[in-house]
Amino acid sequence: MVPRADAPLSPISVQEHRDRILGAITPLAPVESRLEDTLGRVLASDVAAAVDVPGFDNSAMDGYAVRHEDVVHATSSSPATLTVVADLPAGSAENPALGPGQTARIMTGAAVPDDADCIVPVEDTDGGTTQVRILRAPAPAAHIRRTGTDVRASETVLTAGRTLNSRDLAAAAATGSRNLPVHPAPRVGVLSTGTELVALGGSLRRGQIHDSNSTLLAALVAECGGIPVQIGSVPDDEAALRDVLREYATRVDAFITSGGVSVGAYDVVKAVLAPLGVWFGPVRMQPGKPQGFGEWPGDDASGASRTPGESGISDSSGASGTAGTSGTAGTPIFTLPGNPVSVFVSFEAFVRPALLAMQGRTDVLRTTVQAVATDGWRSPNGRMQFMPAVLDPRPESGASAAAFSVRPASSGGSGSYLVASLARANALAIVPEEVSEVREGDLVAVTLVS
Ligand code: AMP
Ligand code: MG
Repeated sequence: MVPRADAPLSPISVQEHRDRILGAITPLAPVESRLEDTLGRVLASDVAAAVDVPGFDNSAMDGYAVRHEDVVHATSSSPATLTVVADLPAGSAENPALGPGQTARIMTGAAVPDDADCIVPVEDTDGGTTQVRILRAPAPAAHIRRTGTDVRASETVLTAGRTLNSRDLAAAAATGSRNLPVHPAPRVGVLSTGTELVALGGSLRRGQIHDSNSTLLAALVAECGGIPVQIGSVPDDEAALRDVLREYATRVDAFITSGGVSVGAYDVVKAVLAPLGVWFGPVRMQPGKPQGFGEWPGDDASGASRTPGESGISDSSGASGTAGTSGTAGTPIFTLPGNPVSVFVSFEAFVRPALLAMQGRTDVLRTTVQAVATDGWRSPNGRMQFMPAVLDPRPESGASAAAFSVRPASSGGSGSYLVASLARANALAIVPEEVSEVREGDLVAVTLVS
């Protein structure tokens, strides 16, 4: 059963929570995008070449288009002398006739005249413009790039599922694509909650803090290919939160909130969303234990009460992915805890994979490397620890030794409020649930995050 808002909470593992999220997320419907807007997008269907590439036989060298039989005996001591009857820069549409003893000066990329069967590079000539002396015999068919030797029209150039890079775009451009079918970038509404929050640049009175989570989350969304929609912050007030979610729901593909999900007296996110069927509960992780995920309901139901269990979360007792059908009804909402380090870790563990899946990516998890701990630290038993860490290459490592070392980024360890120290981390060390201490010299799994 999905743990219900009113049921006793049984902690789930990081992997269980992530699997349930990924089971509820479906890729955004493909759109035709202008080629220049598709870098980093996932291709939604195969792309075929509209034209042959090369589109015509063309010269691979600056030189002279010749009839092989005219120059077959040419040497530097006994050159062949030809009459230059045409000059063919790249782009020329000319197709000059070449009789015996005639040649056309030709530049790289220009179409080879039908009457020529090879190219003599300018380096093997005297460079003449009316008469030219050929100083070396070319091989038959030398230096001609033949029609369609890169790709033929209607052949597949790019296959569905690729994350488009610069070379892919060049291949699409060269083969005549103007638009490509891609999964679009998700627009992600980022909303902070907390009466203590002050927007960027504001001055702080006692008890107030800067809203750093909005900045952090917007940047994280952008880093993984989404379009952040900064909503700002709302105070811990149920009506205010409800209004802003309702207002933005039609404009975004997903929401990320921070704060207000634990067991405090003013935990407004939970108060508003749990009755709508959004799942809240502890996940066996540190930091980031209080998590929530579900859906802000589509139009009519927003603000009204909804039967718990109608969210996009699949039933944990059933096969994963069973709830995919309800994934389109509302707007997926990730409700993260408030502490900045928890926000970062939660984004890495749950939100980033989900936003990548919305973009059609199937490789949604970062790779991990094994690194040697150069400092020891403690880890809570029964919770998977994500320690902000510094990963360094080990120049002295031999073939059998780990190629990286790792240490906590802050002497404060994984303290979830250590937002300034978080900037020193380039990695997360991931310590399994059953490990209560990492000792100097231990091998630890680490993901690079920047
Ligand atoms: P909460 O989960 O709302 O109890 O928040 C936990 C901690 O995170 C508190 O110390 C908050 O002040 C802090 N916090 C919550 N939201 C933000 C935010 N947007 N930026 C920075 N810190 C925050
Ligand atoms: Mg709060």
